[in-house]
Amino acid sequence: MTQPTREDVLQALSSFRDPETGRDVVRVNQVLDLQVRDGHVDVTLGLTTLFAPLWPELKKEAERLLAARLPVETEVNVMIQEYHRPAEKLGAIGLTAKAVIAVGSGKGGVGKSTVATALALGLARSGSQVGLMDADVYGPSVPHLLGTSERPTLHEGKIQPIGADGLRVMSMGFIVPKDEAVIWRGPMLHGAVQQFLKDTAWGELDYLIVDMPPGTGDIALSLSQLLPVSGAIVVCTPQELALLDAVKAVAMFRKVNIEVLGMVENMSRFVCPNCGSQHEIFGTGGVKRKADELGVPFLGEIPLNVSLRIQGDIGRLADCFSDPVTAPALEEVCRNLVRNLAAKRRSEPPLPSLSVLG
Ligand code: ADP
Repeated sequence: MTQPTREDVLQALSSFRDPETGRDVVRVNQVLDLQVRDGHVDVTLGLTTLFAPLWPELKKEAERLLAARLPVETEVNVMIQEYHRPAEKLGAIGLTAKAVIAVGSGKGGVGKSTVATALALGLARSGSQVGLMDADVYGPSVPHLLGTSERPTLHEGKIQPIGADGLRVMSMGFIVPKDEAVIWRGPMLHGAVQQFLKDTAWGELDYLIVDMPPGTGDIALSLSQLLPVSGAIVVCTPQELALLDAVKAVAMFRKVNIEVLGMVENMSRFVCPNCGSQHEIFGTGGVKRKADELGVPFLGEIPLNVSLRIQGDIGRLADCFSDPVTAPALEEVCRNLVRNLAAKRRSEPPLPSLSVLG
């Protein structure tokens, strides 16, 4: 039986690119361990937590690649371990994050905050470091969805974000008393967003998810001026009337030069918890059609689900990941989002790197 050598394995692996940097994992020493014996190849790849939701499929991709290039009898096993590559400070604001994603909608009530919070939770559950900034200053609902009403404290001049279900969270809802109306003028909004970004001790993040206020462009404009935003997600329900507003939301993000990374259809079909039958209350498939028309990726559908509404109402949104209807739908949206981000990074020219192995 032909035995592969270490060099054969490294040669085969050299076409596997780290999704974060687009660099060859062999050259930049992200092959943490390699054992070759008796026709068995065990590889440990080091990948950063930025694309943690994709680790299972990246493992398979590396195994497929090795199997295709090594003698057929070889048994290949790839393991993935965390590899730390520090995030860089973004723009003049100095936020240390690898991706900033704005979640918006054309109008209120379509489930934007629920989806933004659930996405943040989904990414964090996979192992990514996630901050959630509730910039929906007109109706901050993130504290309620996560069941937290703590007041942030100041430490060495920085606001300490509230820790909730593995997320670092900041919201105007923590600062303004619940029933108080706040009238925001443009410059005040800009100031608040800036303060949330600059004066919060976010620490090092893979993702900062920003729950945007519906409709208006003010905060999107501020955000795009303050730091490089990786992109936006537009949440929409499938009926025609809601789609009209979603089209405006896509146009608004494009106007302030924020790329739309995808659209999500929320409240699409109702799955009866008793009999499992499906009902298309608001129609279904409308958002995918609209996304295709607009040239925007479609990230997936989240069913209308009474338990999701209840979990949000009682401040236990994190429990939606144990729901058999909601969890797979949300996980699929998370994976599609990060797959698109990874594809985008891989298609950009790789960052310059020092060759370690020569
Ligand atoms: P928005 O941020 O767009 O105003 P919210 O996230 O506050 O919307 O959601 C509005 C209401 O709809 C909340 O009561 C929430 O629990 C509920 N909701 C959101 N998505 C779903 C869903 N897929 N199934 C059932 N209820 C949902």
